[in-house]
Amino acid sequence: MGKILIANRGEIAVRVVRACAEMGIKSVAVYSDADKNALHVKKADEAYSLRGDPLGVYLNPNKLANLALSLGCDAVHPGYGFMSEDPAFADRCARRGVKFIGPGPSIIERMGDKTAARQAMIEAGIPVVPGSDGNVASQAEAVKIADEIGYPVMLKATNGGGGRGIRRCDSAAEVEANYERVVSEATKAFGAPGVFIEKCIVKPRHIEVQIIGDQHGNICHLYERDCSIQRRNQKLVEIAPSPQLTDQERDQVCEHAVNAAQAVGYVNAGTVEFLLDEKRNFYFMEMNTRLQVEHPVTEAVTGIDLVQEQIRVASGLPLSFSQEEIQWRGSAIELRINAEDPKLDFVPSFGRITRFYAPGGPGVRLDSAIYSGYVIPPYYDSLCAKLTVWALDWQKARKRGLRALQDTIISGIKTTAPYYTEILSHERLIAAEFDTSFVESHPELLEYDETAPREDLALALAAAVVANAGL
Ligand code: ADP
Ligand code: ADP
Ligand code: MG
Repeated sequence: MGKILIANRGEIAVRVVRACAEMGIKSVAVYSDADKNALHVKKADEAYSLRGDPLGVYLNPNKLANLALSLGCDAVHPGYGFMSEDPAFADRCARRGVKFIGPGPSIIERMGDKTAARQAMIEAGIPVVPGSDGNVASQAEAVKIADEIGYPVMLKATNGGGGRGIRRCDSAAEVEANYERVVSEATKAFGAPGVFIEKCIVKPRHIEVQIIGDQHGNICHLYERDCSIQRRNQKLVEIAPSPQLTDQERDQVCEHAVNAAQAVGYVNAGTVEFLLDEKRNFYFMEMNTRLQVEHPVTEAVTGIDLVQEQIRVASGLPLSFSQEEIQWRGSAIELRINAEDPKLDFVPSFGRITRFYAPGGPGVRLDSAIYSGYVIPPYYDSLCAKLTVWALDWQKARKRGLRALQDTIISGIKTTAPYYTEILSHERLIAAEFDTSFVESHPELLEYDETAPREDLALALAAAVVANAGL
């Protein structure tokens, strides 16, 4: 491949630019009017302005596929979010002879429908969360099925994502009260009214397995991530490997994931998500047919560059490793630093970053698209940096995370960074025993002192950078 168009923005677009640069591939950024000062635009080899509304321009499959073709790109990388799970985009690219870096449209479509994915897994003999056969047709049917499954249950949008369109119901009355709400949320957010029912697994661990397949029938797993630290079904902290699994449980979930991927003839990078219940049973929950936000923790413990591997397999090359060659070492933690104010119910905090100092030192990686003076536009999601730390074991990684948070300075906006200091210091994290109820069960962690802005240190560091540049 000689040239790749990146159909995305923000930190993930920068991440793909970096992979291209190391592989000697030219990268092409696209951007909205709101993103003309964005980092991905500055970092890519070429950049093209897409005129139109700030969100819509990133969501037009025909336009993006045509642009890739007309600019002489061999492939498009869709990142995550936006076009990454749109079968129409994968299809438009293929029709124009531009490789889509991801699985084919039929797999994206099948796995994007959570009930179809569940069906495929049942046929492959993989345990799934007990639930309805396909979508429920009416409120009355929802109550009937929920009564059969037993409470609590989850009402879920069939085409949902990003933690939205999911509601727990503890009684028939709650199913009645929530049914129309979830249908309307699903229609608004995902353009599809389908909802289904799953048994609610109480206090589960979210354990997901990274897999990757090539076009020659090889599929490998790259071990698991623990994404149990969530708020409102959205991940905040991700860990690889899970400090909560035995070796035997790890082998078991990884085997389920490879079987799942094989059952659908999976190609390229993907993630199979499972819930682990209190009796230590794994249940398939969904499959994400794309690169994931939290892929850096897997890269940290395996040493494999997932984006480069995605590009290799999309170009037709076999996987550059066998299952036996994939080893994990140590422990990695990713903290999603969002431009949000945790103390105000995590309301988005957009605006100008007056000062930014990135953490560094041993075992620290920062994926971000911010810089001093950058104005975060209000149109997109609030992820502004991902801080990933690696160390030889869980406790060392946790302490390194705390140290790296201390190193980080982001002034001008509120972020979730100080909140992570509270989370990583908590006894449950020290003990490595936590489930998806952790954040909701510990509201007191929001009562931290707003860290002093440390403008003195920020100024000194900024001055040091200027002085060094002058030498
Ligand atoms: P991950 O599964 O990689 O942890 P998230 O669930 O946080 O990622 O989603 C990554 C990004 O993709 C977020 O910006 C989220 O809003 C967006 N996203 C995920 N699924 C969908 C979907 N089905 N429709 C629209 N946006 C989605
Ligand atoms: P999304 O596509 O938005 O990522 P998921 O189906 O992966 O949706 O669910 C997101 C999160 O919601 C899970 O990580 C988990 O915390 C919670 N969740 C979803 N389904 C269940 C369930 N049946 N029981 C308990 N928790 C669930
Ligand atoms: Mg999910």
